[in-house]
Amino acid sequence: MRLSDTHCHLDLYPDYAGLIEEVERERIYTVAVTNTPSVFRRCLALTEGRRFIRAALGLHPQLVRQRHRELDLMIEMLGETRYIGEVGLDFVTKDDAERALQKEVFRKVLDRCAASGDKVLTIHSRRAAAEVVGLIGGGYNGTIILHWFSGPHKVLEKAVEQGYFFSVNPAMVLSAKGLELVAAIPRERVLTESDGPFVTVGEKPARPRDVGRVIAELAGIWNVSGDEAASRVHENFRTALANA
Ligand code: MN
Repeated sequence: MRLSDTHCHLDLYPDYAGLIEEVERERIYTVAVTNTPSVFRRCLALTEGRRFIRAALGLHPQLVRQRHRELDLMIEMLGETRYIGEVGLDFVTKDDAERALQKEVFRKVLDRCAASGDKVLTIHSRRAAAEVVGLIGGGYNGTIILHWFSGPHKVLEKAVEQGYFFSVNPAMVLSAKGLELVAAIPRERVLTESDGPFVTVGEKPARPRDVGRVIAELAGIWNVSGDEAASRVHENFRTALANA
């Protein structure tokens, strides 16, 4: 069974060195996202030469207010990886100035990535799904992966129309509402993620291998075997990477 984790905060695990070895040993394709540009090169150095891990360059929307000055650094480093994330919008904040700043940063990142054309973006959209999908638009020059997409359904439809992928983590398949949303994603657009260490499984931070739990849920939703669900997702993963 080939597994892939398109959104893992590898650099935030206390035992990241062990996790890197585990991922390589278990041959799990892993996108190691980062939250600020200033830590990207460290993450790149940790993962360089690893067959199954790729370091992604990110600026998390919840850190934009503090870290927006790192946008120039981010743009400077864009040529160092195809993988971009975590980026996006988080409208848990009610502060209009902060929301505007997040939008400005996200728009610039999107523009720069589209200009290079080969980027794979893993995107946060909490309470800002419509704004995120609106900013990206249709015909985006690159691969869009909406990470931990939480609705609404109308925006999901729009995102599907516009060709995006969706990465599903273990926390998203715990509730009936979550399962319903996941079931509404066309199978050929589903990817898997851990979002560890933020997502937990039992009491522990999710690890890339825990995408296996998502595969088991997908198999149930799609009414196929675990192996079939895994190969569907693996094929999607290959398509997502080939697109860009
Ligand atoms: Mn994340």
